[in-house]
Amino acid sequence: MTFDNTSDTRPLVLVLGCGISGLSCATRLLELHGAARLRVRILAAEADAYRTTSYGCGGLWMPFHIDPVDQVRVWARQTYERLLREAAAEGGDGGGGGLDASGVGLFYGGKLLTAAPAADGGDLPYWREDVRDFCVITRAEWQTHRQHIDGTNRAMPCACRRPAAQLEALHFPDGYTHAISWLTAVVNMPVYITRLVERFKALGGEFAAPSTSDGQGAASPTTSPQFHSFEEVLTQYAAQEPLDRVLLIHTTGLGARELCRDHQVRPARGILLRVRRPVHCFLQAEGGPLGTATHPTYIIPRNGQMSSCGGTVLLDDDAAAYRHGGAGDGEPLNDTDRAIRDDIHRRCALLLPSVFAHTTSGDIAEVWWDGLRPVRDGGVRLEWERRPLPAEEGRRAGATVHVVHNYGHGGGGVTVSWGCANACAELVRQALKLG
Ligand SMILES: Cc1cc2nc3c(=O)[nH]c(=O)nc-3n(C[C@H](O)[C@H](O)[C@H](O)COP(=O)(O)OP(=O)(O)OC[C@H]3O[C@@H](n4cnc5c(N)ncnc54)[C@H](O)[C@@H]3O)c2cc1C
Repeated sequence: MTFDNTSDTRPLVLVLGCGISGLSCATRLLELHGAARLRVRILAAEADAYRTTSYGCGGLWMPFHIDPVDQVRVWARQTYERLLREAAAEGGDGGGGGLDASGVGLFYGGKLLTAAPAADGGDLPYWREDVRDFCVITRAEWQTHRQHIDGTNRAMPCACRRPAAQLEALHFPDGYTHAISWLTAVVNMPVYITRLVERFKALGGEFAAPSTSDGQGAASPTTSPQFHSFEEVLTQYAAQEPLDRVLLIHTTGLGARELCRDHQVRPARGILLRVRRPVHCFLQAEGGPLGTATHPTYIIPRNGQMSSCGGTVLLDDDAAAYRHGGAGDGEPLNDTDRAIRDDIHRRCALLLPSVFAHTTSGDIAEVWWDGLRPVRDGGVRLEWERRPLPAEEGRRAGATVHVVHNYGHGGGGVTVSWGCANACAELVRQALKLG
């Protein structure tokens, strides 16, 4: 595919990567500036949006394996507020009805603890003041509430003054004494990404599948080759453009290892089971009898029929890359994978027995999803770089191209997506002097 841009004076923004980071940045730019002032092209086949790590992930709003905390807090808060607005716009009522319609649902739930948090709040999450209804709930409060419901079959005016729904969303397996609880947003990624793609296009954005590198014609519209350098991108897509009117937004996640030679980016392998049982809460245990840092146990609503159950955080384990399907999709699980699946199922059955204690392998093996979180040792890289270009015929020595990097979101790419998109949009505004 080639573009004749010579008569178009609008600045050109080329987005590398069409996961949640690329899609939200590209969409936000058009929301702020409009296609009349800016050309925004995602350099991938549209179908690739449905093959990303983002597409398969849990979609829970919760900062997880992502730094630096000061910036993550800002990005996560902006994203939380936007997701709550989107849920409200769709008639969201604090329940999960939006998951199937808009792709965003609001749920109570929490993270289980084995001891009371420190009195000074020092070990509570740094984002606790940014979310609705954050509180610490004790096992005793929860038990009192349950006994009342069991005895009267009615929700009670709770002594601890929490919304009854918040208490009902929890479950305390043996060994857990406290929980931090809040109202969170859950994104049903297949629905949300579909809507985001539609919104991007409706705002005037384009997908542009790259042409093959040997110049022998357009690539298949359903696949996108991998870029190996930013220069390659410029040559293929902006050869005719004055460099000061071009900007690349770099959102390739783990792809930054090759594109930027950034070896701070590391994969953290995560495995999710999609279980044919809906849930109406989220639960997580990272310590205590059910979870560890490398094998946290968690349950997230997926849609009206299914939940996502995890999981693992296996740093530097990228043997599997990501794959869809597993047992339900023709690819039999090997013994190791079957053991992982059974272990996750066992842990989730203890975490929420009312839903998972009686599920069988027929329910749990429908889809097995293996993804790689793009963790970065130095934290998310979100910055504007004037990247030097090699001297070439027709290019002056010392020429640079604007690149805005936005990668390395670890286990929180959805959680910070709109906040990062806002920050990128501001850098684009400055770089291209959009006013
Ligand atoms: C099991 C699991 C559960 C998770 N659950 C959650 C959760 O509940 N909440 C949450 O917030 N986050 C979660 N995450 C993390 C989240 O998935 C990531 O942080 C997020 O998807 C990163 O988005 P991204 O757009 O940066 O990268 P990706 O979604 O990986 O997209 C990268 C894009 O770049 C493209 N690309 C890569 N290399 C190149 C190249 N060389 N040339 C051209 N294109 C390239 C890819 O094709 C793709 O389009 C989870 C992750 C896993 C693995």
